[in-house]
This record gives sequence, C-alpha cells and structure tokens, in this order.
Amino acid sequence: MKKALLENVSRVDSSVQPCVVVHYAEVGLKGENRHLFENQLIRNIKQALKDTGVQQVRRFHGRMAVLLPPDYDWERVQERLQRVFGIAYFAPAVIVEQDIGVIERVACELMAQYRFQSFRVKTRRSQKAFALNSQEVNVRVGAAIQAQSGAKVDLSHPEMTCHIEIFDRFAILYAERIPGARGLPVGVSERAVSLLSAGIDSPVASFKIMKRGVKIIFVHFHSVPFTSDASIRNSQRIVQLLTRYQYASKLYLVPLLEVQQEIMLKAPTDYRVVLYRRFMLRLAERIARRERARALITGESIAQVASQTLSNLMVINEVTRLPVLRPLSGNDKEEIVDMARELGTYEISIEPYEDCCSLFVPRHPVTRAKREVVEEAESRLDVEGLIRDALQRTEVVKFHYPESDADE
Ligand code: ATP
Ligand code: MG
Repeated sequence: MKKALLENVSRVDSSVQPCVVVHYAEVGLKGENRHLFENQLIRNIKQALKDTGVQQVRRFHGRMAVLLPPDYDWERVQERLQRVFGIAYFAPAVIVEQDIGVIERVACELMAQYRFQSFRVKTRRSQKAFALNSQEVNVRVGAAIQAQSGAKVDLSHPEMTCHIEIFDRFAILYAERIPGARGLPVGVSERAVSLLSAGIDSPVASFKIMKRGVKIIFVHFHSVPFTSDASIRNSQRIVQLLTRYQYASKLYLVPLLEVQQEIMLKAPTDYRVVLYRRFMLRLAERIARRERARALITGESIAQVASQTLSNLMVINEVTRLPVLRPLSGNDKEEIVDMARELGTYEISIEPYEDCCSLFVPRHPVTRAKREVVEEAESRLDVEGLIRDALQRTEVVKFHYPESDADE
C-alpha cells in the first residue's frame, strides 16, 4: 500500500526520491554523545534493513532519511524499522528539489493518496534562505490541497497533516507517522549478561534492558541429561526472537546438574534454591568478565516465589560484585504476562519443559535465608571446582538477524 503511495507520488516529478524519514527519541537529547548515538542508530538501521537493498541512511538536522532503492519491499522495511530501538517514529516520505512549484505539486499528489475531511500543512525550515517563510508555504500549499481535495483546513485537530521540511538543498514531504520502538539504539549502553530461563519473566527482563541500549549476552542453565533438552530448545527460540532487536546474540548453555547434585547431597533441603541461584550468579559473573559485560540481569520479581523474598535476594546477591539488574522487581505477574504476550515470548515460555530449578526443589523452601547457613553449606562444597567444571563444559550458540547474515 505504502509502496504504491510512494510510487504514485514519485511520478509527479523526476526529482522525487522515495525515502523513510526517521525521527529519533531520546537520542537527540544526549548533548556531546549525540554523534555516538546517531552513528549507532545508523548502523542498526542499516543492519536491520540489510536484506532489503537499502544502502544509504543520511543524517540531517536531528533526523535521518533512509533512501529506498528502486525495488524495495515496504512491508519488510516497515516491520524491520518498527523494531529498531531509538526511533520515535518514522514516515514514508519523498525527497524533492527545493522549488515551491515542485513542493506544491508533490504535496497535492501525496495527500491525494489519503482520504480525509480536514487537514493542515506544517512547514519547518532549517534553511532560512528559502524564498518563502514557513507560514507562506503553509498558505500556498494548503490552498492547493484544499482546492484539490475539498477538505477543510483545521489547525488544531486535523485528520491529516502534510509535513514539509525544508533543508539546505532539498525538501522532504510526508503525511503519515508510524510509531517506533523508542528506547535507545542497542550498543550505546555497553553490555550485560542476562540469566535466561525458558520461563515467562527473564525474556521480558532482557527486553527491557535491551531497550535501554544495552547489548545482551544470554546465559541458560540446564540439567541435561537428567532433564530433556526442551528448556535449551525453548531458550534458543527466545534468543532468536530477541535477536531481532540486537542483530547478533550469544547464548551460553551451562550445565548445572553436577552443581545441583552436590547441593542436594550436602546442603539443607530448604536452602537448595538459594544455593542454586548463588551458583548461577557466580557462573554468570565469570561469563560477564569474559565478555566485558558490566551487569547481570534476572527476571526476579519481589516475593513472586519463595526464593525471591528480599532476604533471599540479599543472600543470593552477595556472591557477585556486579550490579544485578532486576527490571521486573516491581511488577506483578499479570503485568509481566502482558509484556511477554506483546513481545511474543509468552507462547514459547508456557510450553512445558522441566526447569533445572524445579528439580530437587523442597516443598518448603526457606524464605529468610541466613548467611551463616549458606556459608556453612558451601564450605562443604568445592565451589571453585564446580564452577570450573561447569564452565569447561559450557557451549556457546550464536544467532544473527537478519538470518542471511549467518550464511556469510
Ligand atoms: P522466569 O519466568 O524468568 O523463569 P521465575 O519467576 O520462574 O522466572 P525463578 O525460576 O525463580 O523465577 O528464576 C528467577 C530468575 O533466575 C529468572 O528470572 C532467571 O533470570 C534466573 N533463572 C532461573 N532459572 C534459570 C535457568 N535455568 N537459566 C538461566 N537463568 C535462570
Ligand atoms: Mg523460572
């Protein structure tokens, strides 16, 4: 549909070049770092559109224009751009020469692609030398659109707005804004390691932090061969889905079974889950160091289950000096489920699988874990040896998006 729109408009004048105007959100606000943000956003847009033939993304006056090649697939371009963090909104647009006659004709053709009862023209000039000021452009182009469409001008609540942006050597016209994913471009906020179960919460937690521009490295703990590899397969599907937002991912698959068996043999039954978690954080921290990641992420939510009381979180946390981000700590389950549904991970997360942590779990886990008990139990374990063994048998799987990348 949009493709036909841009093609119709392009026929009006030979100077017309179809493009997508990208307006960015917070990216524009970052003062000196602005170039870093813009460069990362450009890289991410190019990567997201890699298999669409798009070659050029131009930056100008706090916006970007993605130049569309002759045989672009609009559906694909739109779908991809909607998942690029850092974009506030984008619009199918045309670039035309800086000539009021051309602008007027193209604006009329652009608006002829839509149905509306009321409209306005909104002009912005970055190039003040243009012969007409913004108001004069609004009046002239508005009169032409009105004559053609019969719609009335409404400056406060128009159904459609014809945007005209006049720059140094060209002008850009568009009428329809498509909301973007907002957030910050992935890659501008360093890296973090996310503990990814195949459950509902941790994919959402990863997504929220990714949206702040953080590149995520995933770690999944499994109990194969004691359990099937269903949790591994589900975690892979989740990472594949999340990779659509960060283009390349690594998933560390860490065997936890030996750790669990040792804990089962040597520690008090009600402390098992707390001890599993402490080992998970230790292992994740080692991986974080290797990956130069600056934080860990979990899907924990306060008091959702026994292991997630504040007392337990405190004791679990003590094994690492890295900040542990828990972006869902203040959300209730219903809110998290809604987010998982919207993200598309919910369907994968509710598939049955044996969780490594539901193994050997006591009926009455401790809710106020005591540091002395934990330390006493761990003194009977070869903590360092268990960690070393688990890391030695860890596998790494890589993901790419768009997938064609992986073939290269
Ligand atoms: P989730 O839905 O993310 O599994 P949950 O509410 O089921 O969370 P727990 O199973 O207690 O809670 O896990 C708490 C957090 O510990 C998870 O959100 C995740 O970050 C981490 N975690 C739990 N199990 C695993 C695992 N097998 N691999 C990696 N991380 C895990
Ligand atoms: Mg879980």
